[in-house]
Amino acid sequence: MYYIEFDTSLMPSYQTDVIVVGSGIAGLFCAITLKSLKIEPVLITRGIGNTYYSQGGIAAVVSEEDSTLWHVSDTLRAGRNLGDVKNIDILTQEGPHRIVDLELLGVNFDKSKDGSFELTLEGGHSYKRVLKVKDFTGKAIYEALYKKAKELNINIIEGELLEILTEDNALIGCIIEQNDKRVFWASKFLVLATGGAASMYAHTSNPLKTRADVIGAALRRGFLIENPEFIQFHPTVFKGTNLLISEAVRGEGAILVNSKNERFINELEPRDVVARAIYKQMLSGQDVFLDMRNLKIDIKTRFPTIYNFLMDHGIDPYKDLVSVTPAAHYYIGGLRTDENGETTVNGVYAIGEVASTRIHGANRLASNSLLEGVVFGYRAAYSIALSKRSIRLLKAKNKKDDSNNIDCQQYFEKIKDYMWKYVGLERTEDGLNTALTFIKNVAKECMLAMPTKKNKIIFDVALSAYATIEGAIKRRESRGCHFRLDFPHEKDEYRYNTKVCIDTSLKSLI
Ligand SMILES: Cc1cc2nc3c(=O)[nH]c(=O)nc-3n(C[C@H](O)[C@H](O)[C@H](O)COP(=O)(O)OP(=O)(O)OC[C@H]3O[C@@H](n4cnc5c(N)ncnc54)[C@H](O)[C@@H]3O)c2cc1C
Repeated sequence: MYYIEFDTSLMPSYQTDVIVVGSGIAGLFCAITLKSLKIEPVLITRGIGNTYYSQGGIAAVVSEEDSTLWHVSDTLRAGRNLGDVKNIDILTQEGPHRIVDLELLGVNFDKSKDGSFELTLEGGHSYKRVLKVKDFTGKAIYEALYKKAKELNINIIEGELLEILTEDNALIGCIIEQNDKRVFWASKFLVLATGGAASMYAHTSNPLKTRADVIGAALRRGFLIENPEFIQFHPTVFKGTNLLISEAVRGEGAILVNSKNERFINELEPRDVVARAIYKQMLSGQDVFLDMRNLKIDIKTRFPTIYNFLMDHGIDPYKDLVSVTPAAHYYIGGLRTDENGETTVNGVYAIGEVASTRIHGANRLASNSLLEGVVFGYRAAYSIALSKRSIRLLKAKNKKDDSNNIDCQQYFEKIKDYMWKYVGLERTEDGLNTALTFIKNVAKECMLAMPTKKNKIIFDVALSAYATIEGAIKRRESRGCHFRLDFPHEKDEYRYNTKVCIDTSLKSLI
């Protein structure tokens, strides 16, 4: 189904070969690669997404003592054996090549005195294999790629994808809002590089531009979504903001205390263990703080991004405790793709966090996601260059029969609260069903509402939330970052990728 009203024969129309939506690492890298293949992409973006905020780094095998076999096995182990070996193999084999490309495109990763990459060790990796630019790797990558895209005269348009137009499960084009006008772009290919959906939770490390709406819009058009129940939570985000305070800070000796100034966990336990311990403290009415006051290192030079952000918010980490909460951080599932980024809809590709390449399995190995963006952004560009798909000059329209004067915006914070409370770090059948009933009611209200852009976004976020709830209900086990209090163990019978597709069942859903 479509949500907004449109008639492509009555609106401004453009035609192009490839539209890329999203200006994170995946979208920018794909657009630059397309350009190098003599294809002129049009890049549409509503602004800065997750890439810019990545602090840690990007994983790749670039040292002699390391091997891609180890990278494969670490990735599989972190993902609780749910990962797709073929795609993980591609990721690890092609990763180092894409690192060279990134350097050539202007990213200056930290180097040792002898010119070799300065690598760090992160949780779950058997070897030091994380390349970084101080604690602002994502910003450095984003700025270099954006600059290069501009230099190459790639047509970058500030705008928002509203509808993906398809017929018989094949792309026609899309409806974009740009300069406050709705336009129809007919295209041979559409590359979705729109980021994750972790922002549908009350506490999140994601910026608002990476909302969950594109997942919902794709669900309405019959795309297959995989593994939406796997949401990775980060243990320490500065409460009330999106600022992530990385493990490295705890690695340097920062401790976690509750309101009674008691330590309650070994801070260096795995992410999900620490996150759940903090969550339990919060449930019992305690606030949780990170105490960085006794660190032996100079916070200001070692963690400049964190230091400056805290100071801007009136917290001096040398003197003050930092209030923290776990937060939804990374959306593991997404639009199912093959090894070239092609989704289940002809002509549409998905790359980066919005895609499900099944690399991360049930839990993402740290710093594999930036790598996934470049490896599959590159492969999508080459796949498009090799494809013979031609444009389908078809018209499309949508008119709503009747609608009520409902403002769906009122549901946004509620969706986030329900997701946090019932579909968060600890899940139960009862809680998930409570969330499901609520989300179905929201979806029903949105269906009856005026087909405005704001209402559409809330509807699509609700559909995305629905997919996550549905996946979590189906998976009656605990695996990776999906934890069910009522089924606390892994079960062999659930060693599969969850699939959610709701186009045909949308009416019964609501
Ligand atoms: C705080 C933080 C720290 C992280 N640290 C690391 C790390 O150290 N290493 C690592 O590997 N990963 C890290 N990650 C994860 C990583 O940043 C992301 O997985 C990755 O950047 C996703 O890139 P992307 O290109 O897929 O999407 P994004 O960078 O999120 O970009 C999405 C783009 O899509 C656009 N968009 C979305 N919807 C629409 C729409 N409807 N219309 C138009 N445009 C739209 C947005 O405006 C944006 O430009 C971190 C994430 C966060 C939030």
